[in-house]
Amino acid sequence: MENWKEALDRGVLAVSVKTEAMVESGRVRSALTAARRDMEAAVNDLGFQYYNGWLSGGLDDAALLAACQRVQEIHGEVLALQNRLDRIQAGRRTAEGAAFCAACGKKLIPGSRYCDGCGAPVGR
Ligand SMILES: [Zn+2]
Repeated sequence: MENWKEALDRGVLAVSVKTEAMVESGRVRSALTAARRDMEAAVNDLGFQYYNGWLSGGLDDAALLAACQRVQEIHGEVLALQNRLDRIQAGRRTAEGAAFCAACGKKLIPGSRYCDGCGAPVGR
């Protein structure tokens, strides 16, 4: 009697962890799409500033610097979001039991909390 109940609880937990990861990855994915769009706009703006400067015969260094800094700022956001998405997806693969150790690359035993190759803790 206890066994099926425990197994059910474990299953429900696994499903909710998976669903949570899916919801979270959807959220991060749309933030990433928006950040990439902003990045594209910022790069376009930088190009336009440069072109305008060239047209008028004098590049505006302050405007170009500001445009470059804007690109750099958004690029940082894009990289951080991509990194977060990668980590969520690595965690989801772990939940699905087809994960590999991030530290040594050894195939992980489904459900294990530590790599049996190098002892590194397995991400969520
Ligand atoms: Zn390992």
